[in-house]
Amino acid sequence: MANKNILIVPGDGIGQEVTAVGKKVLDKIAAKYNHQFNYDEALIGHVAIEATGNPLPDESLEKMRNSDAVLFGAVGHPKYDNDPSAKVRPEQGLLKMRKELGLYANLRPIKLFDELLSASSIKSEILKGADILFFRELTGDIYFGEKGRKNDGDTAYDIAEYSRYEVERIARRAFEAARTRRKKLCSVDKANVLETSRLWREVVQKVALEYPDIEVEHQFVDSTAMMLIKDPCRFDVVLTANLFGDILTDEASQIAGSMGMLASASIGDGTGVYEPIHGSAHDITGKGVANPLASILSAALLLDISFGLKEESVAIITAVEGVLKAGFRTRDIADASTPANMILGTDAMGEEVLNRI
Ligand code: NAD
Repeated sequence: MANKNILIVPGDGIGQEVTAVGKKVLDKIAAKYNHQFNYDEALIGHVAIEATGNPLPDESLEKMRNSDAVLFGAVGHPKYDNDPSAKVRPEQGLLKMRKELGLYANLRPIKLFDELLSASSIKSEILKGADILFFRELTGDIYFGEKGRKNDGDTAYDIAEYSRYEVERIARRAFEAARTRRKKLCSVDKANVLETSRLWREVVQKVALEYPDIEVEHQFVDSTAMMLIKDPCRFDVVLTANLFGDILTDEASQIAGSMGMLASASIGDGTGVYEPIHGSAHDITGKGVANPLASILSAALLLDISFGLKEESVAIITAVEGVLKAGFRTRDIADASTPANMILGTDAMGEEVLNRI
């Protein structure tokens, strides 16, 4: 029996709606497998700015540090999207959380459920069997380097920086993961142009010597973007830097049919954070139509990676598969052939998953 403290951090918009469902799924697992999960909640993003003026209050950070894992929703509000000059912004909370918790690796499994082949914009025969695990570096690169303006504000700059140590620690994690999969690793960079990429490649080549059983290739980010759509099945583990990973993983989300299906884990040496890859989706907030499956699958990743509860994690994934096999869909993954009575809202979709655990 596991006794764990889970912090629920719903954040903004549909983050609130989908995280509530993810928590119910954790509750069901606790009851079924006789575990004790103790919950607390914390603020982040726009809701935290409204309540405290700070997108990540110290109290929230403290609670994160003291929990065994965090189930996170999303941050963001249209108010800030339309005002690039706002000094205090919801996403500052997200970046600070990643930095302060030392979450240097973002893992995104991209696997298409067979039942959703037709929901993707890519042809089924190209997609069938695609199963990719992205390792995106999360605390370095152009997002965290010095940034500013000069020449009276007419010139802007963002410095990209990586240290040997930062590349090495995520590379090791990715090689270890490749060992548990199909033993292939593709490291993505732009070493023909960028110095940070040249260091990246040098370090990955060195780490690769410790993993002779893994087949390694180095690919430029531009050709990777093309190959992901042309032949997604050729990839197993993909290892890349923060900015390239940000873009490539959103592109790859189309392989899975919808942003509403994809979960991610952000891990470091302390508390892990588990979250859907989608944002706060204010266009559908409050309508009860958000797809909760990404949050549910995030809960499955949490159980597997942070608590080592593999069987419980598989039980959730199997339940999700069962719901899709039975023909239930949320609006974002429905197509013209889906009967109206099989299109469910957020809570009803959650209930279908709960019933199958
Ligand atoms: P988004 O992911 O919120 O939405 C993109 C599109 O996908 C929208 O049409 C939305 O309705 C749809 N969608 C997303 N999740 C869905 C779900 N679970 N079910 C059904 N449909 C879903 O991205 P965006 O519109 O570019 O950004 C909205 C806000 O979210 C912005 O403020 C942005 O900064 C923020 N954002 C936050 C995160 C995060 O917290 N990790 C990630 C991306 C964007």
